[in-house]
Parts: sequence; structure tokens; C-alpha cells
Amino acid sequence: MKLRLFFLSFFALSSLANGQDMNFIKKSIGVLSGPGFGGRGYVSNSREKGARFIYRNFTEIGLNSFSADGNYYQEYVFDVNTFPNKVELKLGKKQLQPGIDFLVDAASSGYQTTGKNKVERINLGKIKDSAEWQKQKAQFNAHDIYQLKNVDTFCKRMKIRSAVLMQELPKACYIVPQSNKLTWTVSTNVMPATVFYVSDTSMPKGRKVEVNVQNKLLSSALSKNVIGFIPGSHFPDSFIVFTAHYDHLGKMGAKTIFPGANDNASGSAFNLGLAKYFKEHQQKYSIVFIAFSGEEAGLLGSSHFVENPVFPLNQIKLLVNIDLMGDASDGITVVNAVQQKSVFDDLQIINSRKKLLPKIVSRDNAPNSDHYPFTQVGVPAIFIYANGGKGHYHDVFDKPKELSLNNVANVFQLLTAFVSEKSGL
Ligand SMILES: [Zn+2]
Repeated sequence: MKLRLFFLSFFALSSLANGQDMNFIKKSIGVLSGPGFGGRGYVSNSREKGARFIYRNFTEIGLNSFSADGNYYQEYVFDVNTFPNKVELKLGKKQLQPGIDFLVDAASSGYQTTGKNKVERINLGKIKDSAEWQKQKAQFNAHDIYQLKNVDTFCKRMKIRSAVLMQELPKACYIVPQSNKLTWTVSTNVMPATVFYVSDTSMPKGRKVEVNVQNKLLSSALSKNVIGFIPGSHFPDSFIVFTAHYDHLGKMGAKTIFPGANDNASGSAFNLGLAKYFKEHQQKYSIVFIAFSGEEAGLLGSSHFVENPVFPLNQIKLLVNIDLMGDASDGITVVNAVQQKSVFDDLQIINSRKKLLPKIVSRDNAPNSDHYPFTQVGVPAIFIYANGGKGHYHDVFDKPKELSLNNVANVFQLLTAFVSEKSGL
């Protein structure tokens, strides 16, 4: 009877601890991707709110700082194009909804029509080679609006990415119909053209257009990485590093927010949960936490860190980057698993023993998140993302209520078990 009671209370306690971790993670995702945090981007300096939230949590958890004054920040700057005011597009009689019916290319210049302009349709599918393309380009007029048809066919034929094509376009306003879902981004430069991507289903028949979009290039905009650690008991100079970027796309115009709940409020909150956990469960190695900024602008925070590390990079035993951790219904993918085979094998072994996730997928290295700059200088690093969910990505629908958080507690258990087996007391 006593024994049974003991086991009962033991299980109740351990599941309670896990529930607390998940409650904390869920709450933090809600805060980071809430309307007050403006999508943690560049309009109204909203990324600063994300930085402060993580800083405050590092303080409350009691992480150590690498700097003598106890500051967790690492500051750096880059240029970024923004749309702080109006982003309006009216096609025919229809005022299109920003973020839902259309996006403006993140590198766009501003453009305002006076009254209604007529759209000229250009079929890029008819252009066979670069000589013809040069001829067509010379005919674009800065004051006119063009609808570009068959952009994908053209890009395939010319072996050019669509983003690169847009950068090449002469100054004018262009409308590009999209059959795929609308996916936004961040640009560190301004191109001559103004480009709207309009969802196929929102394209009206009429040819009249009204446009009002203003851009603002922020030069040398300040961004902050947030860095803290828990000293190891036996080998404090050896580090296991957990990273996650907290920046996202911010706003396209004054009202349209890209909340970035899955990308990457989820990973940021997950790592805060890990920090709390490891503060209470000290390891032999030091456990470092880095919340990167500038990821969406091209891995700029992690690249800055690799060039300006606050501790020698060769002290890193393993770096684990977490990005997109909102729904692990179908398990996880480990990027750079081919190169870090023994790490991948260990994760598989723990997973089959503890029966945590339905699947762990191995993937070759790719420059798709903040682990990448580390792998380029020989630091052992993996990137873990969760598989599952509704596929909202870089759009206005990536909201906290869309995340199931299925199996995320199990990913948490997998990683804490992995670290404990490598580094536990
Ligand atoms: Zn991301």
C-alpha cells in the first residue's frame, strides 16, 4: 500500500513537473506572438519587445552572463527595408486585404498612383531568351503598372530565382499573381521595383488599379542577441548550446502583423523552458542559451555571433538549434544529422526506449536556420524542427491558437534525457 502510494505520488509529481514546463512554454508563446509584440520585427522596433521578454526571463531564471557587467545582450546592426505606413492595393472595385489577398515584396520601393491606372499585361512565358528579356526590360516605364504572367515558367527557363528576377526589374509597379500560398520575408535592401504578389483567387477581372505603399529603409538598425548560461559542475568550460531565433517578420503596413507563433516564438519559449529545467537540474557541462535576432533577414544574428563569439567556439561540444516547435504530431526532423550521425543515433535510441515521438527524420545540412553559420566553422551543430500542424509559415495565420503543441512535451523529454545521458551528474 505504501509502495503503491509512493509510486502514485512519484508519477503524479513527474507528470506535474512536465505539465508546468508545458504551461510555461505555452504562456511564453502566447506573449511573444501576441499583438503587443508586433511580430517581433522592424516596424515600431517591435523586435526589442522580444529581446526584453527573453532578457527578463533569463534574469528570473537566474542564468549567468558572459559579460563582466552581467548584461545578456550582444548588439550589432544591419540595414532593413520596412513598410511602417500604408500598404494599399485596389484592383478593379476590390480593396484587397494585405496579408490575406496580397503581399508586397519585402525589398519593394514605395509607389503611389494618383487616381486609377490601367494595368498592362505582360506574358513572360513568351520570352525565350535573355536577349528578348533585355528588350522587354527596356520597354518598362517607371510610371506604369504591369501584371506579369507566367513568372514561374520564365524563371525556370532562365534558371533564375523569382526573388532575383524582382531585384532586376526596372522601376515600375508590378503585379504578380500567385497560385501558391502567400509567404512573406524580410529584406536588407531596397530594389528599384514595387512588386505585389496577389493570390490567384483574389485577382479581379478589371484592369484598373490604385496603389499606395511607402517603404522606409532603416540603415544600421540595432538588433540584439540574448546570451546566458548555467555553469557545469565538472567541466564548466565545455558547453552544450541551445539556440533559437526570437525575431520574425514584424508588420507589413501599420496594421498587418505576422505573429510568428510557430516561427519562432515556439522555439524561443521551448528554450526558456529548457533553461528553467537545467537551472534546477545542473549538468556536468555548462548549458548555454542563445536567443538570436536577425534570422529572418538572413541568419544575421548567428553569423554575427560566429564572427564575434563571447566564448571560444571550440568549447562547444554540441549546438542544438530549435526553430518551429509548435506541433510535433509527426515527430521531428534533425538537420545536419548526416554529419552528426552519432548524435542522431543517440536520439533514435532514447526515442525508441522511451517511446516519445512517432518518427525522427534525418536530413542533410541546409542553410535554413541559425545552426548553419556554426557548421561552416566546424562547430558540431544540429537543427531540430517539429513536423505537424497546419502549415502556416511566414504568413498572418501563424498565430498561437493555431498551434496544437502535440508531442512538444515529448521533444522536451527527449532533449533533457539526451543531455542528461551525455552530461548528467
Ligand atoms: Zn524561423
